[in-house]
Amino acid sequence: MYCPRCDACATVTPHPEIPADKKAADYGSLDVHRLRCTGCGFFKDRKVDSAVVGSPVDPYFQRPVWLQTSCCGHVLRAYNVRHLDLLEAYVGARLRERGELVPWAPMSLVERLPTWLKVVKNRTEILRTIRRLRSALPAGG
Ligand SMILES: [Zn+2]
Repeated sequence: MYCPRCDACATVTPHPEIPADKKAADYGSLDVHRLRCTGCGFFKDRKVDSAVVGSPVDPYFQRPVWLQTSCCGHVLRAYNVRHLDLLEAYVGARLRERGELVPWAPMSLVERLPTWLKVVKNRTEILRTIRRLRSALPAGG
């Protein structure tokens, strides 16, 4: 998404200082995410109880989503690289066919994907769009 300070591309990742063995209970919330700007180095932490998927703004920081482009007559959005990974895995049907979930992806996130993302005939274009978004990411972001 866009950095609140300089409008460069900022990334949102799980809070780097929460040890893997300490989760929600210890921190009083579902999770803590950190917005970090690849341009100016600005960062900010935010806790959320639920993420709204498909909204044009980041669910944690309410900033406009960086990764968005038109696809199949709709707007394809991703909040970060992991979200792109999820979309790619889902649309590529690896998840559906093997009945597996990406460990970090809540089922609710998959359930709330828009219908057009689940339509098989859109698959090729969606995967191409995801690859294009991925290649537009700043290095290391
Ligand atoms: Zn910035």
